[in-house]
Amino acid sequence: MGEVGALDARDGSDRHLRNGDGGLADAGWVAACGPPYRRPIGPVPILLYHSVSNDPDPWIRRFAVATGAFSWHLDLIAVHGATTLTVSAFVDALSGAAELPERPVLITFDDGFADFGATALPALREREMVATLYPATDFVGRRSPGGAPMLGWDDLCELAVSDDVEVGGHTVTHPQLDAIPPARARLEIAQCKATLEDRLGPSIRTFAYPHGYSSAAVRAIVREEGYDSACAVKNAFSSVDDDRFALARLTVRADTPIAEIDAWLAGREARLAPRRVASSTLVFISRSRRRPRARTRRWPRGRGRPRPWGSPSRPAGSPGWPRRCPPAGRAA
Ligand SMILES: [Zn+2]
Repeated sequence: MGEVGALDARDGSDRHLRNGDGGLADAGWVAACGPPYRRPIGPVPILLYHSVSNDPDPWIRRFAVATGAFSWHLDLIAVHGATTLTVSAFVDALSGAAELPERPVLITFDDGFADFGATALPALREREMVATLYPATDFVGRRSPGGAPMLGWDDLCELAVSDDVEVGGHTVTHPQLDAIPPARARLEIAQCKATLEDRLGPSIRTFAYPHGYSSAAVRAIVREEGYDSACAVKNAFSSVDDDRFALARLTVRADTPIAEIDAWLAGREARLAPRRVASSTLVFISRSRRRPRARTRRWPRGRGRPRPWGSPSRPAGSPGWPRRCPPAGRAA
């Protein structure tokens, strides 16, 4: 996989670990002290991952980061002196309910691929870093439409009772929310929250829009259904002034160069997300949606309540699916 695959052969050099020159201070990361918390002036990277695997399913290969590359990314976060936060911890800090670290960085995972538990989670815990995971509930314990194995309910229960991974909502069937009727969008948004809270216990506070797309109506539904925040994509930096219901993220792909991750962590080589989407961007999005997009064709779409597996969803509480998490500390 090009540059990323080559990173598996780490040679111990620090050529990728630039620090200082053109770094955090140059990028405006200097924090302004004052009540009620420290507000960093600079951009806030919210990294978006999907799969971390050296042998990904072909369907997700473009978005699967090699394990060696992922370790590099985490080591870079440490070298930059950044502090990882969950999404809810970040928005709590934005509202003044918690202190915001001087150099925050957020690590998020969409969809809930099974390799998260085997590859990403150990690497995160080894470095005492935290992350936010957004599974789509109809795929939990099954395979994605492309055939990749997904995390099970036992896995999510173990994560939900941990203090280093926040679990958020990502709809039930992963539709493009701004392209379906509002009533169905509300069902997707509300039902995934209810299902996650029924099975995992803790309140589900944050949401991520499938494919990154939303509209004012969709964002309003997310707010009305009781979420505190939601992640978009935008491929831009977030900031203390970002829209908490459309937080900007930076997509990390299989071929994202390590130097680009380094630059993002230094506050460079990406734009700062506008608080509101410019009208010119809306026109571009509208025009682009008239063409079919490869990135959405494999996920279930269409009208009505889709059954992506060709059979009814397994009812809540059926054998093998715990309705509640096991006690804290019990192996999943
Ligand atoms: Zn997704």
